[in-house]
Amino acid sequence: MLSTTHALLASLRVTMAARALLASTLRVSRLAGRTVHVRCASGGGIPTDEQQATGLEKAIMRSMKAGTDPYSMLKPKQYSGSKQDPHIVPSITNKRIVGCVCEEDNTAIVWFWLHEGEAQRCPSCGSHYKLVPHDLPH
Ligand SMILES: [Zn+2]
Repeated sequence: MLSTTHALLASLRVTMAARALLASTLRVSRLAGRTVHVRCASGGGIPTDEQQATGLEKAIMRSMKAGTDPYSMLKPKQYSGSKQDPHIVPSITNKRIVGCVCEEDNTAIVWFWLHEGEAQRCPSCGSHYKLVPHDLPH
């Protein structure tokens, strides 16, 4: 009789434990099925990089979005060097030193200052170079 009572109590405990487990599982699944909106205290959510960037970082992001090359990382375009199609030289100041390899096999480089304004010519070969403003340092 005593062993029967113990067995009954043990099975009751197991049943209660199983019911508690089932209830907690149901609670979890009910939460999982519901759409939960988590927001920050400000109500606007977490700000994106574009929303919180300032200064140079913002200018770079805007430039990258526009498809330009803020760091001059891409290969330069080919220019013929004529008056109509001068070599474009970006600069963050109003002048820049340019080295011209006048002909493909030359071992000496002709260096000269290129100033803002009209296109200038290489003193040796006569190729045209034009300085264009580049506002982002790299
Ligand atoms: Zn040259």
